[in-house]
Amino acid sequence: MNNFLITPIEYLKGVGPQKAELLKKELRIFNFKDLLEYYPFRYIDKSKYNKISELTSLNGYAQIKGRIVGLLESGVGRNKRLTAKFQDDTGMIDLVWFKGASWIKNSLKINEEIQIYGRATNYKGRWNITHPEMSSVSKSTGFQPVYSSTETLNRVGLNSKGIEKVMQVLLEQLKGQIEELLPPKIIAEHRLLGREEAILKIHKPQSESDARNASLRLKFEELFFLQLELIVRKKITLQKSKGFIFDKVGDAFTDFYEHHIPFELTGAQKRVLKEIRKDFATGHHMNRLLQGDVGSGKTLVALLSILLAIGNDYQAALIAPTEILATQHFESISEMLKGMNIKVELLTGSVKKKARIPIHEGLLSGEIKILIGTHALLEDTVQFKNLGLVVIDEQHRFGVAQRAKMWKKNTIPPHVLIMTATPIPRTLAMTFYGDLDVSIIDEMPPGRKNIITMHKYDASRLRLFGFLKEEIAKGRQVYIVYPLIMESETLDFNNLMDGYEAISRSFPKPNYHVSIVHGKMKPEDKEFEMNRFVKGETQIMVATTVIEVGVNVPNASVMVIESAERFGLSQLHQLRGRVGRGGEQSYCILMTGDEVGKDSLKRMQTMVRTNDGFEISEVDLQLRGPGDLMGTQQSGLLDLKIANLAKDGGLVVLARDSAKALLADDPTIEKEENKGIRSVLSDLLRSRPNWGRIA
Ligand code: ADP
Ligand code: MG
Repeated sequence: MNNFLITPIEYLKGVGPQKAELLKKELRIFNFKDLLEYYPFRYIDKSKYNKISELTSLNGYAQIKGRIVGLLESGVGRNKRLTAKFQDDTGMIDLVWFKGASWIKNSLKINEEIQIYGRATNYKGRWNITHPEMSSVSKSTGFQPVYSSTETLNRVGLNSKGIEKVMQVLLEQLKGQIEELLPPKIIAEHRLLGREEAILKIHKPQSESDARNASLRLKFEELFFLQLELIVRKKITLQKSKGFIFDKVGDAFTDFYEHHIPFELTGAQKRVLKEIRKDFATGHHMNRLLQGDVGSGKTLVALLSILLAIGNDYQAALIAPTEILATQHFESISEMLKGMNIKVELLTGSVKKKARIPIHEGLLSGEIKILIGTHALLEDTVQFKNLGLVVIDEQHRFGVAQRAKMWKKNTIPPHVLIMTATPIPRTLAMTFYGDLDVSIIDEMPPGRKNIITMHKYDASRLRLFGFLKEEIAKGRQVYIVYPLIMESETLDFNNLMDGYEAISRSFPKPNYHVSIVHGKMKPEDKEFEMNRFVKGETQIMVATTVIEVGVNVPNASVMVIESAERFGLSQLHQLRGRVGRGGEQSYCILMTGDEVGKDSLKRMQTMVRTNDGFEISEVDLQLRGPGDLMGTQQSGLLDLKIANLAKDGGLVVLARDSAKALLADDPTIEKEENKGIRSVLSDLLRSRPNWGRIA
């Protein structure tokens, strides 16, 4: 990098040591380059005006040319306010000041053309703008950048305007200092602005299209380098990673497939299995993500993969995030393997020390072929004779570091298959799992009916109970789920208990039997209640989210989710997946209070609209942003300066394709035209931890 750009920020005219200190502390701006990369988050278009009559369709900031035609003072003391009637040729709105009313009153000119700018809100049918920016019409034109600032920076004059000022000083010295990083071919192909031009224009656009083109160029560049880094890391990992070769189909697989498999595989299951078999044959280490909606039949794919490992004289492990889920996997897999001579064991936190000894021995001798369990399985004392495959269920609950532990359980890392029921938007998967191969089960086993989802308010609870009685009369079973979160545990627990009592009263014995399961119960009591429900001895299961990833009760046809506004989308979708497992029409009923916030309402509407997990994950991404969606572990990848993984999905794809094309053309990035790329990439590879190893 050239010296100019790494000049410390205090050497910029108008900054000085004190402001520099604050810029470093508050915004991590250390040098000229950092400042240049501090991009505005929006612009004010000083040349474009809104009409008052358009405000109905406009939500947010408005700039209007017009006149003040009247003034009104009202209230006293703290409630004092000044209202100005502001008119253009299409209508009238209120301008409101709560502060400095008398000073402003004296400075306002009645009946003179001015322009105002501010956030237009509708209060009880009237449009108003509080504390608008005002200026005379002729003065302002062009585009003004808006930078985010902090209170501390504000105090030393570095509000948005102040930042704009120092930025302009820097931009004036910039000419010829910014190197182009992308080769002409890529620039031409995507019609990108040059790098210097883009940086000048992002801070000082003359028009909306300037701003758009500048931001497009810089976003593309940022995403391009991110994707390039991920692809290169993956290549490096792959070259280094030797993996076991499973080249036989083997007896275990063949016997199961011919004599024991309970159903015909779906097309998607077959396709995914083929992808996995291909990985097993390469001699490289498999690191594959298996995405498939709740109920799409991932377990069977996992089992078939496990049988391939066993047929090649390796052992396999299956890790689940909760004890209940591990137990259920253990039971269903043991059931499916009945009559085959394959030893399966379960290891969870509640397996006593003494009982672990024979498990440890069986693993070391190779007698135990499949170990199913929870985190307990990661402990160093758990050693295998020859572990060849690790399957991880419900990946999003599993820490990165924990996954890495499994790599060490054999001389060569075992193959890894990660199953997730939370579909991840494609663009995020590309970024966060740039190093993983992704398989998708996008087809449900035959005979499934769509689950009908409804959003109801608490007021219709009586009707709800009536509906539940009808379903129960048909012989079906019902889940009623309550939220239970750490922060409000006691309160939530009381709600659960109140709910349970109300339900027990409305569904009295001897006609009805109600189960309850929650986190405060002893494991054996939980188990007992679950089993009563599984066997159909109780018709209603009142529970907290412990059932989220757990029991499989095909006869259950109704899922009622209480205080549904408090659940996230993926959790709601997971819960809904507990029903619709049999052939009956199933229902999911989302109960909320009467007052539901905007985002909560959007979640309810999304659930009502679609059963498609991928679609739901896209909405989730828009609502929560990639950081929350992916968890903080991988947030290092989110230090993006301008691109947004949630909003710039299309660009992510373009950038990735472009990075791939570059590597195809110049695999070791040695061509002269790719010099800039080479230097950025080697910096990136040096400065960031190796995600590829651990993801
Ligand atoms: P998930 O992908 O959510 O883990 P499961 O593996 O638990 O889904 O499968 C859901 C249900 O579908 C189970 O009851 C399973 O036995 C059944 N199933 C799986 N594959 C098939 C298939 N090919 N045909 C019919 N039913 C299947
Ligand atoms: Mg599952």
